Amino acid sequence: MLIAYNNQQQLFLPYQYTRKALQRYRRQMKFYCPQCLEQVQLKIGNYNIPHFAHFTKNHCSQLFAENESKIHLQGKVQLYEWLQKHGHQVKLEPYLKELSQRPDLLVTLDKEQFAVEFQCSTISHEKWHQRTMGYERNDIQAIWLFQTPQGKEAVNGIRKIRISPLLQKAFITTTDLPYLLTYNPVTAQFVYWTNLLHVHGHTFIGKVQKISVDQQHFPFYRPQRITQEEFQRYWQLYKQTCRQFAHNRLLHSKKGAQDPFLRNCYELNLSLTALPPYIGIPVKEGAAIPLFTSEWQIMLFYFSKQLGRLPFELTKGQMENFLCKHQLEVTEQALRAIQNYGYLLKRMHHEDGLLDNCEQVYVHLFAIATIY
Ligand SMILES: [Zn+2]
Repeated sequence: MLIAYNNQQQLFLPYQYTRKALQRYRRQMKFYCPQCLEQVQLKIGNYNIPHFAHFTKNHCSQLFAENESKIHLQGKVQLYEWLQKHGHQVKLEPYLKELSQRPDLLVTLDKEQFAVEFQCSTISHEKWHQRTMGYERNDIQAIWLFQTPQGKEAVNGIRKIRISPLLQKAFITTTDLPYLLTYNPVTAQFVYWTNLLHVHGHTFIGKVQKISVDQQHFPFYRPQRITQEEFQRYWQLYKQTCRQFAHNRLLHSKKGAQDPFLRNCYELNLSLTALPPYIGIPVKEGAAIPLFTSEWQIMLFYFSKQLGRLPFELTKGQMENFLCKHQLEVTEQALRAIQNYGYLLKRMHHEDGLLDNCEQVYVHLFAIATIY
């Protein structure tokens, strides 16, 4: 932790002093944890930012991240100073008694409170949920800012990105397609992954944009939706990934004729290497079905054909049966994904030639009101 009480009951922030001054203070003063009030030790190494740590492991050190990495402390200090510089009312590691929680930063803006958690280590889903709920119950908006994953620095542009399940929890869903904001203390940059389009599993297509801490604003900037021209690049990447998937599946399928995807493809008389343009269409809420769209959409066509219908003619019950038959979780989102695919199919069928599929999907993902 970066802050503790000294013997005069004042909050003491060691990183603001020289190491020489701190060595003197360490001899003259005692320091106490603002949360459990136990005595803590002042650590003045050459490598890490001066900070405090409990002498022994206790309940408090579990509540509050102990053994904080250099990068975590560095990031906290940078964000704290940046918010202060912009004239915001900000507290560093304040102990919120009624919640027994200690966010990294607490910002008050127009009577609204924001808890900013700069997360560098992995955190369990339970802990994340518990902390987020704690803030929400007390009318504090929780902002999880994760450290930019190493090796994911990348350059600005549109690309395929694998995102861990933990980071997916930090998705911000106030835009058409979700986005993720991370912070990298080494470069003092915010990295945005915006307009995230689910491809399959943990793979997305997104637009990477970096901005330096000096260009950022609080509350953090919200990204713009991509343009239809930019979406062409998404479409190319998406289609390319679908082709790769079909190719690999054909090469490596161990189930052979038992593989429902391959079997359905064969039964529908479709060639895996040249799938028709209405197969493999990204749809809203598509992430609720963890398969490739080309996979579930072929299986859906086959399922509908057996009932003598087209996918957009299925009843809700039949859609549920479809999901069950393929051991897919029956959720409202998954049902809506199938419905969305149905709408698009119908649309593509009727307006043949008016808009190409890529444009249709763009309209579907970003401006749904103009379709229905
Ligand atoms: Zn403590």
